[in-house]
Amino acid sequence: MRIGQGYDIHRLVENRALVLGGAVIPHNKGEHGHSDGDVLIHAVIDALLGAAALGDIGTHFPPSDPAFKNIKSTILLEKTMQLIREAGYTVANIDTTIILETPVLKPHIPVIRTTIAKFMDLPEKLVSVKAKTKEGLDSTGTGNAVEAHAVVLLEEAVI
Ligand code: MG
Repeated sequence: MRIGQGYDIHRLVENRALVLGGAVIPHNKGEHGHSDGDVLIHAVIDALLGAAALGDIGTHFPPSDPAFKNIKSTILLEKTMQLIREAGYTVANIDTTIILETPVLKPHIPVIRTTIAKFMDLPEKLVSVKAKTKEGLDSTGTGNAVEAHAVVLLEEAVI
């Protein structure tokens, strides 16, 4: 068993889509970023890579590389899952927390969970997505940023 954790934060700006776990959430702002800025997937990728001691998202998908400009983070997640499988691991489970002041995420959690499970090729029962606010505090609490935390447990694949 190997455990990994990941964290990410992105500024929220106008004229960008709010993408969380590959699902587009209706909102008047979205994540600023070189890719689509999907903060949840970025945290999950760092947790996966961390659990396998394979570096971090910037190591594998550097923002300086034009190949990754405006790329869908779901594609990066699929590439990361390939790296994890090649290293000899399967995912035992993932647990995540999104921190966002508005909109209320509760009604969107099922689609976020379904979408991220699909791109990780995992049954939904292995994927947990939770949400909370920052109680109006700091940049996230004032609606100017979105954050995500992720924890991943890997098991050695049975050959
Ligand atoms: Mg990011």
